Amino acid sequence: MTITIALSKGRIFEETAPLLAAAGIIPLDDPEKSRKLILDTNQPDIRLIIVRASDVPTYVQYGAADMGIAGKDVLDEHGGVGLYQPLDLQIARCRMMVAVPNGFDYQAAVQRGARLRVATKYVETAREHFARKGVHVNLIKLYGSMELAPLVGLADAIVDLVSSGGTLKANNLVAVEEIAQISSRLVVNQAALKLKRERIQPILDIFEKTVAARS
Ligand code: ATP
Ligand code: MG
Repeated sequence: MTITIALSKGRIFEETAPLLAAAGIIPLDDPEKSRKLILDTNQPDIRLIIVRASDVPTYVQYGAADMGIAGKDVLDEHGGVGLYQPLDLQIARCRMMVAVPNGFDYQAAVQRGARLRVATKYVETAREHFARKGVHVNLIKLYGSMELAPLVGLADAIVDLVSSGGTLKANNLVAVEEIAQISSRLVVNQAALKLKRERIQPILDIFEKTVAARS
């Protein structure tokens, strides 16, 4: 019985490594240095797979990974079908925001019922947010560097993750509305949780204790 954990490189891996260590799980390779996509760990029955952040829910949903760690942004876009989400790990914290060019009167545009052109990687999140507010939008799907879109006339506004605000500032944009507080969650395949509970549950318990001890 092998346990496969899906993670993305970068901040998720860095912030997850201490939680894995608390559970006695140490990767044998550093994903930032190795080109391996499957990393063995010091635990013979636990391996890590390294996937794109937005692919983590898909691997777990189909059971190719038993569990994984993904941002709430990614989970909201995915929809969470087939995923058990037992724990907010409180890592990789940031906010999903609406941002516009400095000087664009967002509230006035919303009040007069203007149809806004909104560029984003998070189309489902944006659709739901503006529908809830009753704001008409044309959504333009992008895959990165959303900040550029309003600067070159592709969009009036963007929906993107913001942490320090430095990227917005550098591009003369301002955040005007918060859509959600974002952090990363543990996701577990529902069938795997039943079939492999004796191995998975202790890991969940240690993660939970470690997170609780931090706050
Ligand atoms: P890729 O870089 O492969 O296109 P990505 O941008 O989604 O994908 P990361 O940048 O590693 O991948 O982000 C992973 C997760 O970390 C995101 O889904 C989000 O939850 C969170 N995150 C993204 N940007 C920030 C940030 N600036 N500060 C804190 N957390 C962030
Ligand atoms: Mg990124």
